[in-house]
Amino acid sequence: MSTNFLTKNSIKRKLKSQFLWFRKYYYQGKSFTCPLCGNSFRTMLPGGFQSDAVKKLDIIGAGLRSQNICPYCLSTDRDRLVYVYLRDIFSIKEKEIHVLHVSPEPALYRVLSTLPNITYTTGTKYAEGTYYPSGIEFFDLRELPYSNNTFDLVICNHVLEHIEEDYLAMAEIFRVLKNNGHAVLQVPISEKLVDTLEDPDIKTQQDRHTVFGQFDHVRVYGQDYPSRLEHIGFSMEVIPSHRVKEQANVSVNFALNPRENLYIAHKKL
Ligand SMILES: [Zn+2]
Repeated sequence: MSTNFLTKNSIKRKLKSQFLWFRKYYYQGKSFTCPLCGNSFRTMLPGGFQSDAVKKLDIIGAGLRSQNICPYCLSTDRDRLVYVYLRDIFSIKEKEIHVLHVSPEPALYRVLSTLPNITYTTGTKYAEGTYYPSGIEFFDLRELPYSNNTFDLVICNHVLEHIEEDYLAMAEIFRVLKNNGHAVLQVPISEKLVDTLEDPDIKTQQDRHTVFGQFDHVRVYGQDYPSRLEHIGFSMEVIPSHRVKEQANVSVNFALNPRENLYIAHKKL
């Protein structure tokens, strides 16, 4: 049984890899460069799901984006923004640090897991029927199995909007960070909302899709998102994507979402 499973998976992987190589050449060009795989393309591919709530609330980091997916490594605009920040501003390749990556995005995982200078811990909540890379740990973000002051950097993107008690998850990230540690905490966000939209009585997948824009989201963060993290104890730094690009000081177009901000939370005791 397990041999068949492995064999089927390896055939699938081979077909997928040949397909991606084909796309690498079919879409090659000079308009965009993916910082994660290093390839350049005439176009990125559209990706993301549109919904009435995403449109109405104008949720940034969600919805259909025309230049979203890298044709080769399948990174998204969100992955590329985080990686350009980590590589060119945070200088992750020059630091010997312990990193916790929560629910790692595959394109980011493939690159970060190969960096020899970092100790890379990955973890997520287990979901039946999902494929996970080997070595990943399973945990509840509201109760992390790590000691206080363990990590220099926590990367936790597009996770908090799935957790009803998000303040518990934020407090756990704060607890496991070392003093002077950083957390990259991206979420879908609506600048139209002064206050975060949430309602614990909205419980069904259909209702959550209608109100929050996705069946498994329990809120839409608003302008108060940084202050919710400050309330936990973080000092917040909000960096617009154009500043990430400027600070990276490179001329290539990474196909970032120009409206997306980076939310960097600093633990300073
Ligand atoms: Zn790529």
